[in-house]
Amino acid sequence: MQVRVLGCSGAIARGCRTTSFLVDSDLLVDAGTGVGDLTLDEMSAIDDVVLTHSHMDHVANLPLMLDAVAGRRAGPLRVHALPETIAALRQHIFNDVIWPDFERIPTAAAPFMHFRPFAIGQCLELGSQNVKHVEVLPAVHTVPACGFAIRRAAGGRHWVFSGDTERNAAFWHRVNTLDVGALVIETAFSDRERLLAERSLHLSPATLASELTHIPPHQHYPIYITHTKPAETEEIMSQIDMLASNHEFAFDAGGAPEPDIRWLQTDEILRV
Ligand SMILES: [Zn+2]
Ligand SMILES: [Zn+2]
Repeated sequence: MQVRVLGCSGAIARGCRTTSFLVDSDLLVDAGTGVGDLTLDEMSAIDDVVLTHSHMDHVANLPLMLDAVAGRRAGPLRVHALPETIAALRQHIFNDVIWPDFERIPTAAAPFMHFRPFAIGQCLELGSQNVKHVEVLPAVHTVPACGFAIRRAAGGRHWVFSGDTERNAAFWHRVNTLDVGALVIETAFSDRERLLAERSLHLSPATLASELTHIPPHQHYPIYITHTKPAETEEIMSQIDMLASNHEFAFDAGGAPEPDIRWLQTDEILRV
């Protein structure tokens, strides 16, 4: 399975795009500003979108993408999300004020978009070319939110995405039972802004360090950092490097290996 990083920044700037990942060619995970780099053909090939939550940096390009591919697709784009996320999108975006109601265009019987609600813990089979098994993971954020564990339905390891979250024991409780090929986890703020991180329910390097101690010693996989604010990315990176060199990430006294922490890059392709 292939995961193409369309956006992995916490905000926009030249070269920085907000959260979006293309899994194989037919499943989109979040629809931040990175979607705008896809060609029309690439956008048209997406059959399913899964959303972690309703925040703008994760949904900004969903309305524009729908407008771009409307009429080019044989069937509706299926958008899967928590019921609260769907309600927020209907009320605040697809309300015929901010953007047309694509659940009724061109007709309510055959619209360009279908919303499909899911629940935490639910497993979905998505994608039409290479069917993917998508498990909805818990997240701790200021609005109802989730993460995902995704693998090819035919088998293989999981690509795990935390979504936007603060400390989250339930996430690790589930992830530690999975065969993980790669983890993408947010670290939105530097430790200088740790209070802001705690208030907005995001991680900072110090809380990331405490989160990674949940990984048992026998589990070792690459850990990619995402959602860093462009203005703070270097500071966040150096703080994580310092914590790692001070062995703040050491999992236990049993000689567990250092975690394999990497920086996620736009346009990077992860093969899981
Ligand atoms: Zn958020
Ligand atoms: Zn976000």
